Amino acid sequence: MKSNMKRRDLFKSALGLGAGLASLSVLKPLYAADDWELRGPDMHDIPITKVNSRCYYFLATDPEPSPDNLGFFSNPGFVVTSEGVLVVDTGGSVQIGEMLIRQIKTVTDKPVTKIINTHIHGDHWLGNHAFVEAYPDVEIYSHPNVIEQVKAGAGVVWTGFMSRNTNNATAGTVVTPPNKTFEGGETIKMGDTTIKIHFMGHVHTDSDLAVEVVEEKTLFIGDMAMKRVANISDGTFLGTIKAMEQMEAMDIDVFIPGHGDHEGKDLPRLQREFFEVIYSEVEKYYDEGLSDFEIRPKLDEHPFMVNEAKNWPGYDTTFGRFVSEAYQEFERNLF
Ligand SMILES: [Zn+2]
Repeated sequence: MKSNMKRRDLFKSALGLGAGLASLSVLKPLYAADDWELRGPDMHDIPITKVNSRCYYFLATDPEPSPDNLGFFSNPGFVVTSEGVLVVDTGGSVQIGEMLIRQIKTVTDKPVTKIINTHIHGDHWLGNHAFVEAYPDVEIYSHPNVIEQVKAGAGVVWTGFMSRNTNNATAGTVVTPPNKTFEGGETIKMGDTTIKIHFMGHVHTDSDLAVEVVEEKTLFIGDMAMKRVANISDGTFLGTIKAMEQMEAMDIDVFIPGHGDHEGKDLPRLQREFFEVIYSEVEKYYDEGLSDFEIRPKLDEHPFMVNEAKNWPGYDTTFGRFVSEAYQEFERNLF
């Protein structure tokens, strides 16, 4: 306890309680990662969910970072091939990354040779730090927009977000951006396993990649679909609807999302319906002259919300944001 206090106090004073985070240099850590005085605690083991003979993930049950979950609130995944392990998303801290490595070793003794970060949100890639320490030659891929945004400071914003929301449990995490890019359309072979990369345009962010494990008819979809009402601020309604139509048409049996349980075709279908209902109702009421805060209560009564979306985590706190984002997107599309 005593050393915890000390660690926190040092970290807080070093960072000025988060206020100056955005001005820090992206690539220069404030302290060495092995300086245990300044590190958050180790991440406890999260059980592995085995989906099929090659695909696994770590299910996060909490919808947001907290001091209790130490910042573990999205699902990292991995694929075991005859050539090595492909990791899809690495969690939001070095401690989470270390836990993933520890747990993956209970499944296979093959090394992690490739990582794909599904998009820019830091809960999906700040764990890269642990992997480059354990596997210095590991290739880390993302859409080029991730690397651009990290260069512009997104990593520092995200390490600050994680620290503030976990009482500094993620301290010690050094921003470690991807070092290779996929633009979508690539097919790679990893021994006995075929991996196809899909980019579907501006969906949850402008950098979303989906990772298809062809032999297993399994698609890791990052945050493009989830039965949650989460972060819409970087996403688009029309882009999401189009991407879901694409996913529903694919020869895929299992979709593994970045948040929530894996599922079949219901996952993209429900996401599409959710976004279609919001967008089309906003369009209807916009034409009647209503503003976003007048539309929200009407949408709350819609059968899809009553029967389905009201049960999703985040509905009560975040649904209003979805309505106003849809309103703004609809208005932008008028011109
Ligand atoms: Zn996200």
